[in-house]
Amino acid sequence: MEKEQARLRIEELTEKLDRWNYEYYVLDNPSVEDAEYDRVMAELIMLETEFPDFRYKTSPSQRVGGAVLDAFEKIPHKRLMLSLGNAFNEEDIRDFDRKIRMILHKSSVTYTGEVKIDGLGISLLYDQGVLQHCVTRGDGNVGEDVTSNIITIPSVPLKVSEKRPFEVRGEVYMPKASLERLNQIREANGEPLFANARNAAAGSVRQLDSSIAAKRGLDGFWYYLVNARELGQHIHSQALDYLDELGFRTNHERRVLHGVEEVLDYIREYTEKRESLPYDIDGLVFKVDDIDAYDLLGYTAKTPKWAIAYKFPPLEVRTKLLDIFLTVGRTGRITPNAVLEPVRVQGSLVQRATLNNEEFIKEKGLMIGDTVVLRKAADVIPEVVAPVKEKRTGEERPFVMSETCPECGQPLTKVQGLHYCLNRECPSRKIESIIHFASRDAMDIEGMGDKVVEELFGEGFIHDIPDLYNLYNHAKRIQELDGWGQKAIDNMLSAIERSKGQSLEKLLFGLGIKEVGLKTAKVLSRRYKNLDALAKATEEELIQIDDIGAIMAKSIVEYFADEHHQNVISRLREAGVNFDYLGTDMIDTSSYFYGKTVVLTGTLTHYGRSELTELLEGIGAKVSSSVSKKTDCVIAGSEAGSKLDKAQALGIQIMDEEELLSHLGNLRG
Ligand code: NAD
Repeated sequence: MEKEQARLRIEELTEKLDRWNYEYYVLDNPSVEDAEYDRVMAELIMLETEFPDFRYKTSPSQRVGGAVLDAFEKIPHKRLMLSLGNAFNEEDIRDFDRKIRMILHKSSVTYTGEVKIDGLGISLLYDQGVLQHCVTRGDGNVGEDVTSNIITIPSVPLKVSEKRPFEVRGEVYMPKASLERLNQIREANGEPLFANARNAAAGSVRQLDSSIAAKRGLDGFWYYLVNARELGQHIHSQALDYLDELGFRTNHERRVLHGVEEVLDYIREYTEKRESLPYDIDGLVFKVDDIDAYDLLGYTAKTPKWAIAYKFPPLEVRTKLLDIFLTVGRTGRITPNAVLEPVRVQGSLVQRATLNNEEFIKEKGLMIGDTVVLRKAADVIPEVVAPVKEKRTGEERPFVMSETCPECGQPLTKVQGLHYCLNRECPSRKIESIIHFASRDAMDIEGMGDKVVEELFGEGFIHDIPDLYNLYNHAKRIQELDGWGQKAIDNMLSAIERSKGQSLEKLLFGLGIKEVGLKTAKVLSRRYKNLDALAKATEEELIQIDDIGAIMAKSIVEYFADEHHQNVISRLREAGVNFDYLGTDMIDTSSYFYGKTVVLTGTLTHYGRSELTELLEGIGAKVSSSVSKKTDCVIAGSEAGSKLDKAQALGIQIMDEEELLSHLGNLRG
């Protein structure tokens, strides 16, 4: 792969992983399966290894876990709370064992094998025999104090006989039965279902109201005594026995394994057993049993080298491919979709799956009527893996790609193996582009989802994006439609009105310019500040921008040169849609100030007070007017007064202007 190609791919993968991390760790609501996430992460790591120039500190491959929410008190971890390296097959496990044997100069190493419970990592801190704090992993450095929620779990000991200070880590999880019960209640209440036990557990532990957590039926398994040696424990499996003695609930599926062959046996055994356990496990964990070897084995930025997580392959089921139908996306791209005989996989019913494109169907050799293998890990995005050829009866028929658009009947065009409907008037394309424009990452018009857009389009009230802003003219007629009351219409119209004030990057993303994703939209908005300025940019100029490649530049210039698009833009302008960048998107979770509470005092020379406040808030800091224990940092200019004194008294970090500039400089760099 060429360097430029690699850079673009890395950027694309990073954008995906950042988004998935946010959905997974902050929203507790993933949109892709773990296996897909792991696959993309593995590709990123491979590319970064090959092109180390593009391995940035902020890369998802270098960071542990998620963000720390402001809602809870933050507690720094005395020892980093890391993730685990992954193994996906026998070879990865043998590799892990080989490296360890090499470093330890041993012909065989003893490991503890444990089940990898699919919950969230929690650290318990004890002193004087009393539980002091329960903390989430957070970003590995700093976690959230969720004590009030964790102590609702009856098996967590509040008092223990060990008086010396110690830290125990483990997994808080939701047993299968609790998850099923909870999802049944949620379904009855019309609330969204939890995708899996992990997200349900994380969502419960991060409830501000501990009575909610208390009702969720959580439990915990404790798997790691952090300062074991301080308590005289030098063997991990024995440290777990000691935790048992102290009254901690440890998991008894664990086993001491002598050498890699026993590790592989354990994997085979638990691949069979996993379904029968009363809680979800997404893998197995192997840890070197000799704790004294940990120093020698060491750590990467993200994982200890003395342990590894073996991840189970996603579950596969069989079902029938009943038919294949085509859909048309907003760019005109045609996607074949599988109609499947409904089948239950990991708690949800699957009856549709995307088949991506004609090539995908050919490569897999799928025929309509085939029995197929369907893969689906946690929830969402099921994947058709392969046909089961032995099951063919002769009744199956091949899939023949249509030559015309299923919606408008116009002939399709094939570009690089993909089929497109190039008819701009194709109703499906129009509907999809309006849905995209209104979506959350774009103009965020609440209530303007697929169904509403389809209905309003079908009734002839909207034909394209700018029509949204004239919808108020049709209010009376919409009211005559089934299910539309005055209130619903008012809400919709005011959401549309509000969207006029969105910042440029959302508008830009919403316009659906080919190649321009969310991240590029942000980059362009920061750079050009205004839609008209961007519309004048030349390809040469755009290519100069760090994140913009030649294909993107061409597509942007072509977009604005197109008369049809010029018309869309001028109608949006007439409607009063904001074309300026408002600078509200700069929240970069890796910035130094992200999530910190900052107080400004004294006179600064480089920034006005309000300018700096805006800047800091824009990068995710909370700027507060008074100093308290919750303050993370005081930025002190000259002639700082009582706030500085108070910060000194409380031992809060104080930063002068030079340091401030260096942190902000890092941000810009
Ligand atoms: P991980 O889940 O792969 O492994 C580390 C964690 O395992 C530990 O922090 C600990 O909490 C847990 N664990 C459970 N049992 C354990 C035991 N017996 N001993 C030690 N640890 C044990 O790593 P992670 O950093 O928590 O999460 C990364 C993974 O999460 C990814 O590989 C991916 O599968 C998933 N993920 C998915 C999405 C998505 O969108 N689907 C997004 C982000 C992450």
